[in-house]
Amino acid sequence: MRYSGFRLLAQGLTGNRGWRPVWRDPEPKPHYDIVIVGGGGHGLATAYYLAREHGLRNVAVLEKGYLGGGNVGRNTTIVRANYFLPGNSEFYSHSLKLWEGLSQELNFNVMHSQRGLINLFHSDGQRDAFARRGNAMINQGDDAILLDREGVRAILPYLDFEQARFPIHGGLYHPRGGTARHDAVAWGYARGADSRGVDLIQNCEVTGIDIEGGRVRGVQTSRGPIRAGKVGIVVAGRSGQVAAMAGLRLPIESHILQAFVTEGLKPVIDHVVSFGMGHFYISQSDKGGLVFGGDLDFHASYAQRGNLPMAEHVMEAGMTLMPMIGKARILRSWGGIMDMTPDGSPIIDRTSVDGLYVNCGWCYGGFKAVPGSGWSFAHLLATGRHHDPAARFRLDRFARGDLLDEEGTGSCHNLH
Ligand SMILES: Cc1cc2nc3c(=O)[nH]c(=O)nc-3n(C[C@H](O)[C@H](O)[C@H](O)COP(=O)(O)OP(=O)(O)OC[C@H]3O[C@@H](n4cnc5c(N)ncnc54)[C@H](O)[C@@H]3O)c2cc1C
Repeated sequence: MRYSGFRLLAQGLTGNRGWRPVWRDPEPKPHYDIVIVGGGGHGLATAYYLAREHGLRNVAVLEKGYLGGGNVGRNTTIVRANYFLPGNSEFYSHSLKLWEGLSQELNFNVMHSQRGLINLFHSDGQRDAFARRGNAMINQGDDAILLDREGVRAILPYLDFEQARFPIHGGLYHPRGGTARHDAVAWGYARGADSRGVDLIQNCEVTGIDIEGGRVRGVQTSRGPIRAGKVGIVVAGRSGQVAAMAGLRLPIESHILQAFVTEGLKPVIDHVVSFGMGHFYISQSDKGGLVFGGDLDFHASYAQRGNLPMAEHVMEAGMTLMPMIGKARILRSWGGIMDMTPDGSPIIDRTSVDGLYVNCGWCYGGFKAVPGSGWSFAHLLATGRHHDPAARFRLDRFARGDLLDEEGTGSCHNLH
């Protein structure tokens, strides 16, 4: 069923009786050419591009809960292409281009809003670093504008520019950056994959991976065994646990990241703003809530809730940057499990087990990567070759010491 203004009108006039479920609820088949473990953004996008770009339809996505119930539905929805290093830069640039046509491509409104993202800087050293980053973005073909203090003030007049400890010196403006509606992205890809014949199987936990003679043969699940020619593990914060079912040890630590949302307010923040002297970023949702977050909780855990010290730190940073935020009341907070790599960059690769592939390590930046990651992982699964923009996301780079360390903080999972 294609969605359109005409269909909306027609359904409205006929009592909305003609809408059909957005995807089927199929029973698992005994065998698939490709099984994707994990029905988050990356798993669903992979399934969609396998069908759409490579014509592969005997594909299943196995999700232990409900589609989009993981991090893809728990994040703060920032979409950007402001990376510095070759390897990351071209990948996120490709992903942003896919975002720009995604609602039309999926015939599903993912509410991609290019409202502009501004990273603030508070010292001369930070200005130099952001100037270099901006130049790298422009070289990559993306957009970046270095703003001085008055340039930022003209756009974000409500910030505390004269804050005694962290006065604002300027910002790097990325006009094509912005936000999207997180679960709509999962639903849009799910609908697109389902309509092309992919089986989306919910409440189906993978509990084992069958390997014979060094080759993957299928998976054990809570709904019985399923044979498969190839298996892709795309389970974000659970990557280490699922890979262990195949005897693999991934260079991943799982950490918690929290987010917060206030009561709905009238429009006040019409960009994404990121503080340079503490980990704090904020935007306003279309419903009016201020959506913001900060750094990792700094201890590894599989809990989907955060600790109080980080909540306090985030509130402090928010008050430092924009004291007006103190008038808003927090409505909710939650946490998600981040698959952190030692260099903060992701992994899209085959493993030492024939036919078994991994897509993980998105740390806390994997939402904006969903279209690019799905595209690149589908390319690898279908053709056996790495897709160029993702060619450096190799598993063996950690053994080779060839890190993609965007933050320059060295090999430490919780510092990226
Ligand atoms: C608070 C917070 C804020 C964030 N903010 C941003 C942001 O602003 N911008 C950005 O780019 N990124 C952000 N992220 C990161 C982003 O959400 C993640 O990197 C990304 O969603 C992870 O990929 P995914 O969508 O595939 O993961 P998930 O949605 O977590 O998908 C993985 C799925 O695998 C399933 N699964 C796990 N184990 C099994 C199993 N054994 N069998 C079957 N299924 C299994 C899970 O149930 C889950 O549904 C944020 C994350 C959090 C938590």
